[in-house]
Amino acid sequence: MIPRIAPFCQTPSWQKQLNNAIRCPTELLRQLKLPNSLLAAAKESARLFPLKVTHSYLARIEKGNINDPLLRQILPLIDEQCPHPDYYTDPVGDLDATPVPGLIHKYRGRALLLATASCGIHCRYCFRRHFPYSNHKSSNNWRQAIEYIQKDPSIHEVILSGGDPLSLSNSKLFRLMDLLEPISHIKRIRIHTRYPIILPDRIDLELSDYLHQHRCKIVTVVHSNHPNELEDQVRDSLKLLNDNGITLLNQSVLLAGVNDSADTLSELSEQLFTCNVLPYYLHQLDKVQGAQHFAVSDTQAKALIKALRDQLPGYLVPKLVRENSGDSAKQPISG
Ligand code: SF4
Repeated sequence: MIPRIAPFCQTPSWQKQLNNAIRCPTELLRQLKLPNSLLAAAKESARLFPLKVTHSYLARIEKGNINDPLLRQILPLIDEQCPHPDYYTDPVGDLDATPVPGLIHKYRGRALLLATASCGIHCRYCFRRHFPYSNHKSSNNWRQAIEYIQKDPSIHEVILSGGDPLSLSNSKLFRLMDLLEPISHIKRIRIHTRYPIILPDRIDLELSDYLHQHRCKIVTVVHSNHPNELEDQVRDSLKLLNDNGITLLNQSVLLAGVNDSADTLSELSEQLFTCNVLPYYLHQLDKVQGAQHFAVSDTQAKALIKALRDQLPGYLVPKLVRENSGDSAKQPISG
C-alpha cells in the first residue's frame, strides 16, 4: 500500500498571516522599494496611529510607486501630523452615543456593537483612529451590550463593528453571535468588515457555514475603495459568502489621490457587481484629526456622482452620504 502523503499547505493560516502583517515603516519601504526620504515621517506618524498592513494587500501595491492608490491608504505621511481646526478625534459623535461600554446606539432600530478593537489593516483615514477602545472593553465582555439589546425591542438590527469583527477567531465570533440568536426582536445582523478585501483567507468554510445557518438574516458590508483591491482571492472569498446566502454590500470612502475619479469609481462599481456586491455608500470623509489630506470637496463629490449616473445603471451608483455628529441618520449629499 502506498503511504498517503499529507498535502503540502503553502498558505499559512489567516491568523498567521495576520501575525505576520507589516507594522514597521522601514520594512514597508524596503518591501515596496520606496525612497528612504519617506521614513522619518512614516515613523513619526505611525506613533500616532500604528502602521499595519497584510502581505496579501501589500502584494497588490505597485513597487516604487509612491502614488499607488492602495499605498496611500496605508502609508503614514507627514500630513497626518498637522492639526486642523475643523477635524476632531471623535468626528461622528460616537462617544456621546454609547449608553453602555462597547455599544453605540445612534439610529432608530439599529445598534452597533464594538466586537473588538482590532483590525487587519490600519486605514490612515479611519474615523475611529483615536477611539478610546480601552474604555470599551468589548471583546470577550459583551454582557452589558447584550443586556442593553435584550431590553430594547425596537432594535431589529445589530451591526457588528469595531475594529473589525472578523478579527475575532471563529469560536469567539460564534460565541457572540450565539448570544444574539435567541433575542427574538433581532431580525438582522450586519457585519462591517474589511477582511474579505485585505485578507481573503479569513473567509473560511467554517465561517460561511455558520453564517448560513444563523437564524438572523446576515448582511455583510465590505469596505473597498479601489478596483485594484479586488484580486482573484478576494473574489473567491466574496463568492463563498454569496454562495451561502449572505447579502453583500460595499461602502467606500471618497479619498483624494485614491478614488477621486469617475473612471475609478465606475470601475469599482462594475467590478464589485461581478462579485455580487452592490455599491451601497460612498462616504464623504469623516473629519478625523490626521486625515485632512484625504478630503474631497462636496462640489467635486457631487460632480463625480453625476458622472457615475451618466455612465452606470442606477443600482451601481452608490449613495453619496455624510455622517454628522448627533444626526439621527446619515445625510445624503445631493447635487
Ligand atoms: S478597517 Fe475600518 S475600522 Fe479598521 S482601520 Fe480601516 S476603516 Fe478603521
